[in-house]
Amino acid sequence: MTVYAGQCLCGRVQLAVRGEPLRVGICHCMDCRKESGSAFTFYGIWPTLQFERTGETAEFQGRHFCSGCGSRLFSVDEREAEIKLGLLSQAPTPLVPSYELWIKRREPWLRPVPGAEQHDEDRPSHE
Ligand SMILES: [Zn+2]
Ligand SMILES: [Zn+2]
Repeated sequence: MTVYAGQCLCGRVQLAVRGEPLRVGICHCMDCRKESGSAFTFYGIWPTLQFERTGETAEFQGRHFCSGCGSRLFSVDEREAEIKLGLLSQAPTPLVPSYELWIKRREPWLRPVPGAEQHDEDRPSHE
């Protein structure tokens, strides 16, 4: 089975997910912009049972980050774990977004990802 592994910038937090993600997305919303300090976030979602991590994290409104280096890491609930894909050791990753959220906040110089569903705001269901 494929394992995707990664860590934060300082290495205090290590994480791994087993198998292929349920879905991969990009979000341009205000919260993602502020949290990341960048124009969008790129993330993958796996069943929580396939997600493992070591090392202590700090948390703000369910978003975990490394208190040592500030890297943004993941959000997790009983069902699903959302991992920031920039943490993976592989760069570039083989993972491609199948949808984009909050494209009304997308920087005008960014083009839509070819073939990805485009949503003005959140997905009708839930991410
Ligand atoms: Zn760190
Ligand atoms: Zn967002």
